[in-house]
Amino acid sequence: MSGPRTIVVGAGVIGAACAWALARAGAQVTLVEAAAAPGQGCSAASFGWLNLSVSGPGDDLELRARALAAARAAPGFADRRGALVWEQAPEATEALFARLRPHDPAARMVAAAEAAALAPELRAPPALAVFAPDEGAVEPTETAALLLAAARASGALGLLQAPVQSLLERSGRVAGVVLGGPDPRQLEADHVVLAAGAASARLLAPLAPEAAAGLGLSPSVLVRVPGGRALSRILCGPELEARATPCGDGVAPGAAIVTAEDPPADAADPAALRAFAERRAEALRDLLHTPFAPRAGAPARALLAQRPMPATRPFAPLDAGVAGLTLACAHPGVIFAPFLAARVAARVAGRAA
Ligand SMILES: Cc1cc2nc3c(=O)[nH]c(=O)nc-3n(C[C@H](O)[C@H](O)[C@H](O)COP(=O)(O)OP(=O)(O)OC[C@H]3O[C@@H](n4cnc5c(N)ncnc54)[C@H](O)[C@@H]3O)c2cc1C
Repeated sequence: MSGPRTIVVGAGVIGAACAWALARAGAQVTLVEAAAAPGQGCSAASFGWLNLSVSGPGDDLELRARALAAARAAPGFADRRGALVWEQAPEATEALFARLRPHDPAARMVAAAEAAALAPELRAPPALAVFAPDEGAVEPTETAALLLAAARASGALGLLQAPVQSLLERSGRVAGVVLGGPDPRQLEADHVVLAAGAASARLLAPLAPEAAAGLGLSPSVLVRVPGGRALSRILCGPELEARATPCGDGVAPGAAIVTAEDPPADAADPAALRAFAERRAEALRDLLHTPFAPRAGAPARALLAQRPMPATRPFAPLDAGVAGLTLACAHPGVIFAPFLAARVAARVAGRAA
């Protein structure tokens, strides 16, 4: 490898994707991650849905469709189990379909009988739903590990338990990182890619306070509950979204259900968060036939995480205004990771040229 010496900070789904894209583009990549394994930050609490069907008013679905195409070509994004999505009122479901249809030609409207056939686990299939057969979901921790493995196969070095204490500045440009942890030292580089998720703002603030101020956070909760038979696809109704996970429940291997939620106001209180998780498990029992529903008495677990939320969606500007540095921050970050990584790799190559 003779490309630019590039340090990637953070092995969440975004940093791991950047390391992979950079290594494939010929950069000499060293990825440094504070935790003992990749994908342990926000990515570990993510619902991981690769979707176009659920979006906000300001979301650019054309861009998101391009991001999904990039994800399909990256390691760890293969799932296509399909999603069944519906709103309370049929007119709202029709409006959702009208937004989706130009960007997802495979999506179609289904009535109750077909919804029941597609998702036999539902106690009360919706009168009208959107079925998006190409949508899928990943386990982002697993995806981060696969991306890091692919980056290593392309020559990247991955250092775990290597927390960055600060960015190294020399003559007005970022020249590397200062590592703490078991092997404290300075690592020099031609370019640093900052992909530290919720920690990026703290590392960036001393050098680029304005860019750091644009890196917001938004809390969200993933509830995991041991299930019975695996759900057939991703289900998203007006009350909750749910999918099967093969990752077990942290207690025993086997099928479990995950559901992503807005946190309750008292989420900082562990007892309140546990009670919230139990209420969501109850809601799943109302939604699903017994063989698929959360097992009675099995504990529901809630993971509260801070989602990196750039002020400019879906990405923060790659150029934070400091030479030698590229910022890699996006929301929704799983969907956009490979697309953003390709842009990061192009920028690093351009800068080096
Ligand atoms: C409940 C929930 C549901 C979600 N659902 C979806 C969804 O369906 N689809 C979707 O696309 N997105 C979803 N998201 C958002 C998505 O998970 C995030 O956008 C994405 O995981 C962010 O990835 P990241 O790599 O930027 O951050 P992280 O995963 O947090 O990775 C940052 C990494 O940097 C490391 N790090 C931090 N500080 C340092 C340091 N000083 N030195 C070295 N390493 C450091 C951390 O240990 C971590 O591994 C969801 C999030 C949540 C919480």
